[in-house]
Amino acid sequence: MSVEERLQDVKDRIAKAEQYSKRSAGSAVLVAVSKTFEADDIRPVIAAGQRVFGENRVQESQSKWPDLKSETSDIELHLIGPLQSNKAADAVELFDVIETVDREKIARALAEEMKRQGKTPKLYVQVNTGLEPQKAGIAPKETADFVTLCREALGLSIEGLMCIPPADENPGPHFALLAKLAQECGVEKLSMGMSGDFETAVEFGATSVRVGSAIFGSR
Ligand SMILES: *Cc1c(COP(=O)(O)O)cnc(C)c1O
Repeated sequence: MSVEERLQDVKDRIAKAEQYSKRSAGSAVLVAVSKTFEADDIRPVIAAGQRVFGENRVQESQSKWPDLKSETSDIELHLIGPLQSNKAADAVELFDVIETVDREKIARALAEEMKRQGKTPKLYVQVNTGLEPQKAGIAPKETADFVTLCREALGLSIEGLMCIPPADENPGPHFALLAKLAQECGVEKLSMGMSGDFETAVEFGATSVRVGSAIFGSR
């Protein structure tokens, strides 16, 4: 299959999962994860109509997205990888959505940079639903307090939660936990689901799914 056909196939599968779970068409947005792929691999996907993309590294994104964004005005770029506070300025400058806010230090750095640059990327909090030591994200039971701190002490508007379930577990319970936490925190966006499990994520209420290899091929 060509990259255009794979993109269409993923979109069709999202549409079917929306229908199956009685959700409105388009309520689960596709974030095409283009990490490790070059601008020339991404251009055909933009030409096929895709506008929302995800990257996991600030530096790598800086090497391709300023050009791609200048070629197409309505690109929405999501940061889905861990963020260091020394990269907060670059992240605020380039990304439209930062999905990986997970500790006070980074939240403070983002708040400062957003004020300085007069830019307001949308912010999601990453939750480590599987409590995996090697994985970024705040613990589930600390999520509500952290969202309150971001909102009240730092004046940040937190719009969503994001998770990456453990690779070797059934993702359903992790998606359900994230949806429950979002409800408790009064947060509307749920970023969950990847190439292997995005249909399940849609059934559990994902408002966006992050799909890489099913579109771009293996990395
Ligand atoms: C790479 C990545 C994805 C996409 O993974 P695929 O399995 O290729 O779809 C999604 N989310 C995050 C956080 C990633 O780093």
